Amino acid sequence: MVKKFRVKCPSCGTVLNVPAGSACTKCGSGLNFDAPGMIEIYRMGNFVGSAVGYGIYVNDQPMGHIGDRESVFIPVPYGTYKLHFTCGMNRKCNDPVFEVTPEDNHVCVKVHIKMGVFTNKLVAERVSPDTMPKVGE
Ligand SMILES: [Zn+2]
Repeated sequence: MVKKFRVKCPSCGTVLNVPAGSACTKCGSGLNFDAPGMIEIYRMGNFVGSAVGYGIYVNDQPMGHIGDRESVFIPVPYGTYKLHFTCGMNRKCNDPVFEVTPEDNHVCVKVHIKMGVFTNKLVAERVSPDTMPKVGE
């Protein structure tokens, strides 16, 4: 399986999931895969709402969806990032914030739904890279 990256087209704003080196499938513009940082997100398997893709938001910008047991790789510049996830109409999330720096440029996050008495909540937690599933290069 070819590793794909979740990038936003700088020209038309379309969010794409494509192998490195691809052009925008909508407008043909070049895409930037060379950002020095990486946010890697893995969605843990869950019976609740498993057919629904979770919405991904990075600093309040929509970055597409993530399916059950899917990995998403988002190249990013150094900076501070807030992650937010939604599941259908459910927007309850712990909204983790972290820094991407030259010393710590690969942030790995696992997301799952935590069942609650009244509402379910999306919980995203930073984890060690060696706990993430391997995705082909
Ligand atoms: Zn485009």
